[in-house]
Amino acid sequence: MNIILLGPPGAGKGTQARILVDSRNMVQLSTGDMLREAKSTGSEMGKKVAEVMAGGGLVTDDIVIGLIREKLACAAGNGFIFDGFPRTESQANALDKLLEKFNTSISAMIALEVSDEILINRLLERGKGSGRADDSNRKIIENRINEYYTKTAILKTYYQRKNCYYGVDGVGGIEEITSRIVDVMSKL
Ligand code: AMP
Repeated sequence: MNIILLGPPGAGKGTQARILVDSRNMVQLSTGDMLREAKSTGSEMGKKVAEVMAGGGLVTDDIVIGLIREKLACAAGNGFIFDGFPRTESQANALDKLLEKFNTSISAMIALEVSDEILINRLLERGKGSGRADDSNRKIIENRINEYYTKTAILKTYYQRKNCYYGVDGVGGIEEITSRIVDVMSKL
C-alpha cells in the first residue's frame, strides 16, 4: 500500500507518517527531511535549495524528483508514505511514472484538513522547539501556506480523478487523527 499524506505545512503529515512507520513498517519518504539533510551537508545542491527553503518557496521539481527517485530505488518495507511530496502536478506525474517502474501505484491520497489559524499557531509552537527558521517567522509561514494553496492544493483534483482521494479532519488529538487515517486505509 502506498499512501500520500497531503496537507498544508503544520497539518501533521510528518507526525502521522512516523506513527505509520512504527506501527506498519511502512517507509516514510519526506522531501522536506531530504532537503534539510542536503542543506546540512553543505553540498552544491544543498546550497542551491537553502535560500528557497528559507523564504518558504518550493524547490524546483527536478531536484525533488531526483531525490525521490534515488530513495525509491533503495527503500524496502511495507509500502511507502509520501510526506510533503508531490507538491505540484508535474511531481505527481513523475511519481506515477516512477512507481510504474516498480510495478506499483498510489493506493490513496489522504489529506489532513486544518484551518489556517490553527496551522500558523502549530508552526510557531513547533518553531520554538525545533529551531527551524521557516517555522519561526509568521511571514515565511504565510508564504508556505500560500504556496500550498496556489501550487499543491490542485492535487486534490488529480487524485480525485483517479478515485483515490480521501479527506480527513486533521484537528484533534494525535491518536484520534491516526485512527481516522487507519480507518481510510482499512477500507482500501
Ligand atoms: P516540509 O518539511 O515538507 O514542510 O518542507 C520544508 C520546505 O522544503 C518547503 O517549504 C519547501 O521549500 C521544501 N520542499 C519540501 N518538499 C518539497 C517538494 N515536494 N517540492 C518543492 N519543495 C519542497
